[in-house]
Amino acid sequence: VDREAWIRALERSLEAEAVSTAPGDLQAVSHDESDLPGVLPACTCRPRTTAEVAAVIRVAMEHGVPVTVRGGGSGLEGGAIPLAGGIVLDLSRMDGVLAVSPDERVVVAQPGVTHDRLNRLLRSTGLHFPPSPGGSGDVATLGGMVSTDASGLYSLRHGGTRRWVRGLEAVTGTGEVLRVGGRVPKSSAGYDLKDLLVGSEGTLGVVTEVTLGLEPLPAGFVRATLAFPTIEEACEAAAEMAGYVPELAAVELADRETMEALRALPGLGDVPGEDLLMIEAQGRPGECAAGREAALEVAAAHGGQVVEEIGDPWALRHRMTRTLREAAHPAGVARTDCAVPLPALARFVNEIKSLAAAGGTAQTPRRAYVFGHAGVGIVHCLMPLGGAGSWTPDEARAARDSLAARAVALGGTVSGEHGIGLGQRDLLALEHPDGIAWMRRLKAIFDPRGILNPGKVL
Ligand SMILES: Cc1cc2nc3c(=O)[nH]c(=O)nc-3n(C[C@H](O)[C@H](O)[C@H](O)COP(=O)(O)OP(=O)(O)OC[C@H]3O[C@@H](n4cnc5c(N)ncnc54)[C@H](O)[C@@H]3O)c2cc1C
Repeated sequence: VDREAWIRALERSLEAEAVSTAPGDLQAVSHDESDLPGVLPACTCRPRTTAEVAAVIRVAMEHGVPVTVRGGGSGLEGGAIPLAGGIVLDLSRMDGVLAVSPDERVVVAQPGVTHDRLNRLLRSTGLHFPPSPGGSGDVATLGGMVSTDASGLYSLRHGGTRRWVRGLEAVTGTGEVLRVGGRVPKSSAGYDLKDLLVGSEGTLGVVTEVTLGLEPLPAGFVRATLAFPTIEEACEAAAEMAGYVPELAAVELADRETMEALRALPGLGDVPGEDLLMIEAQGRPGECAAGREAALEVAAAHGGQVVEEIGDPWALRHRMTRTLREAAHPAGVARTDCAVPLPALARFVNEIKSLAAAGGTAQTPRRAYVFGHAGVGIVHCLMPLGGAGSWTPDEARAARDSLAARAVALGGTVSGEHGIGLGQRDLLALEHPDGIAWMRRLKAIFDPRGILNPGKVL
């Protein structure tokens, strides 16, 4: 009865067709791109305005109903799974680009705009929003990117989303509309609530508008793929390139097992199954040439050579996450999202490989696919839970836990870019044994009834 009451209250607050309990609609928002089990919500709401978002939150607060915000649903740690049922607040209709100021290099947009669409719309201004989640840019929304502090290929040069967020509008768990930050590149006025909301994964507020700084499109770029005799050499070269070749905007790692998996795809049979780095230098022609030359020198010192068979390395790079997941379907994959300081990169990747080698059999060794944004120390390891070289869920969990602990001990982080969500919740205390209690206190201020994305992050 209560459920009917709050659903009727939602229908009074939004256009009637913006609230749905249709099984197909509930199913569509029950999961994200992680392999964590989906959960059906009771209803979905698709607001168009901040006022409608605030109305939904007020109904939810009054009735104590959980609310899970959803952008594109491309998250990899279950952040958008409506764990506690209730309402999924789907922001895909809030997809307006509200204002572009080329002189100021600023754009104001609603949260449902996708990364790729924003950059397509900006192209004629000669500006862009540089953080790129690569393989998911077509679906990842600005709200989702802000809420996970997403990064990607170009994080070596451009950092994560946080660096580009100037201001936010958000609706807190009390239904109040809060504007934080502003339009200028920096401010020293008081506590930075904007930076608190960035990366908060829908647990402190619903981001309803973003003001982002922009950057001129690069004058030009060159890309190259380099093959190395061992994964250690590739990692050591990546660390040196990131440290000493300032023209490089991206240094990506892919191990030979990942490349072998890609070779199985139609048309990719010629791709070498070797440990690779994929790089991009950006700038004027002279800068690009100098960056490429310096990177090749570093590579040569580690036995690395240019691979000609791969045309555009990013066309391949963007397919890794989904290809490996599909190969393990329907069991899926377990993953790590750790980052370590660059001098520890090779050691950390070696530890992943030793963990994999410690199980399985000589005929069917366990596979640990390793790839990531090596230039900033982010290493993703995907462990198949089904198909060739698979791990049992318990083995994969133990490996994930031990790698996370190792990353923290080396001075790194348990989550370089995907967020804590649901999948990494038990790892947060490893990194923030004292901070967690303060995070809980902050959560209680922003969301006193605990309705915003319960069961996530903390
Ligand atoms: C093939 C593939 C490649 C990827 N590559 C990268 C990569 O290179 N780098 C990277 O960082 N990530 C990557 N990702 C992960 C994912 O794309 C990012 O985490 C992205 O930022 C999620 O955006 P989304 O709109 O899909 O968010 P969702 O998955 O819908 O949500 C993610 C989290 O943000 C919250 N949220 C969403 N919108 C809002 C809002 N408006 N207000 C408050 N909270 C909100 C949700 O509640 C959830 O907790 C990849 C994913 C895939 C499938």
